[in-house]
Amino acid sequence: MSSEYDYDLVVIGSGPGGQKAAIAGAKLGKRVAIVDKADMVGGVCVNTGTIPSKTLREAVMYLTGMSQRELYGASYRVKEDITISDLLARTQHVIGHEVQVVRAQLHRNQVDLLTGTGSFTGPHSVAVEGAHRGEHRVISGEKIVIATGTRPARPSQVDFDEARVLDSDEVLQLDTIPSSLVVVGAGVIGIEYASMFAALGSRVTVVEQRERMLDFCDSEIVESLKFHLRDLAVTFRFGEKVVDVSVSEQGTVTTLASGKRIAAEAVMYSAGRQGCTESLNLEAAGLEADHRGRLSVDGSYRTSVEHIYAVGDVIGFPALAATSMDQGRLAAYHAFGETANELSGLQPIGIYTIPEISYCGATEAELTSSSVPYEVGLARYRELARGQIVGDAYGMLKLLVSTEDRKLLGVHLFGTGATDLVHIGQAVMACGGTVDYLVDTVFNYPTLSEAYKVAALDATNKIRALGRFGG
Ligand SMILES: Cc1cc2nc3c(=O)[nH]c(=O)nc-3n(C[C@H](O)[C@H](O)[C@H](O)COP(=O)(O)OP(=O)(O)OC[C@H]3O[C@@H](n4cnc5c(N)ncnc54)[C@H](O)[C@@H]3O)c2cc1C
Repeated sequence: MSSEYDYDLVVIGSGPGGQKAAIAGAKLGKRVAIVDKADMVGGVCVNTGTIPSKTLREAVMYLTGMSQRELYGASYRVKEDITISDLLARTQHVIGHEVQVVRAQLHRNQVDLLTGTGSFTGPHSVAVEGAHRGEHRVISGEKIVIATGTRPARPSQVDFDEARVLDSDEVLQLDTIPSSLVVVGAGVIGIEYASMFAALGSRVTVVEQRERMLDFCDSEIVESLKFHLRDLAVTFRFGEKVVDVSVSEQGTVTTLASGKRIAAEAVMYSAGRQGCTESLNLEAAGLEADHRGRLSVDGSYRTSVEHIYAVGDVIGFPALAATSMDQGRLAAYHAFGETANELSGLQPIGIYTIPEISYCGATEAELTSSSVPYEVGLARYRELARGQIVGDAYGMLKLLVSTEDRKLLGVHLFGTGATDLVHIGQAVMACGGTVDYLVDTVFNYPTLSEAYKVAALDATNKIRALGRFGG
């Protein structure tokens, strides 16, 4: 390695993609620096996105007694008057701990954490501008990984005031739990927050300009989710566009293009995200972002400039913490010539609504449109002993099985533990397994995993009936 540069690898952004790139570089014996703002170590993931929202969800589930009502009655609560500080106490505790874990991991691996905003001054050099005057330095790196993530997109016609009209980052700074809330955008983040506030007792209205939501998921499961959310007093306004949000001392009025007006204490916008590239001075590196601030990369996460890589949300889909980590690791391996397998095409999707959704593999709609014959195997949690024990009467697991070679083509879950349970189906599919593996396997009892066996038996019984009835 040439000593012409201060570092072998400079990583900009310390979210999951940047962190894992830095650690992978360090494990290969490289001199690594990672750049991020002092209050953003761990990235959007730890500070404003994944970790706070998932911790908030746990706090909501626990304090509202939501998951226990099947057993103890609809009025069951752990705490009657839940305040925002009840919720944030848990969130701050977890964020603080996670930041320490990230810092310790970087330190242990001798990665230099340089605090400030990074911007290119040349293809190999990065200026790091600290928050205070005089905190300025320029470092050079042989290889560079950009992992600067995204921030909430803000429509220009809306006046965000950090109090009543908020984006999804600011929702964590609310002073009180609003008694009513408009959520603009029924994407994953919008619906996750809508379900949390609905569980807390806010009257939530979701406004979405498309006719449907989460249309990449199994449609039956999305229907179940909508049913549950309506039960929690959520109103959906699909095919509607917001044209104005007015704010007064008392609250907000959201006006839709159809003329409807919705009064609510607060409005949360969740209308997509914008790549964080504007502060990077990309021209100095010979790079250009698209109109949504994103960078394009090849299959090895390399940008159009040979020694500069980009990973995580800044490269767009799927924009998940889970994938960003692997992209970071693979970019560092590629940069230093370390051989590695590509990521499996079978990636799970987890949506932490209340109840949660998860899936892996194909949906029924996809199989139908590509004329792949399949059978459905279904298990309902209420028919499982563990389902009764945990009080989940609505949960379900759905297997999609090829009627030609009995291979598992998709697994879709709704309810308790969905985002964990999906990995059993993912492993079977990744190994090219058939539904018979699930039939022949003994599962612990009583567990929710047993749903796999019940659904596999259901699918195989239906396939058998095809043979019997078909003569
Ligand atoms: C509300 C919410 C919930 C989510 N829930 C989930 C979930 O449940 N599961 C999941 O897998 N994913 C979830 N995500 C997505 C997940 O958070 C992202 O996919 C992940 O954080 C992206 O990682 P990243 O490496 O791109 O960096 P990010 O986590 O986006 O962090 C980027 C970092 O780069 C820094 N940065 C930006 N510009 C500069 C610069 N010029 N100089 C220095 N540093 C800079 C930023 O300060 C930031 O710290 C959620 C996101 C949000 C917003």
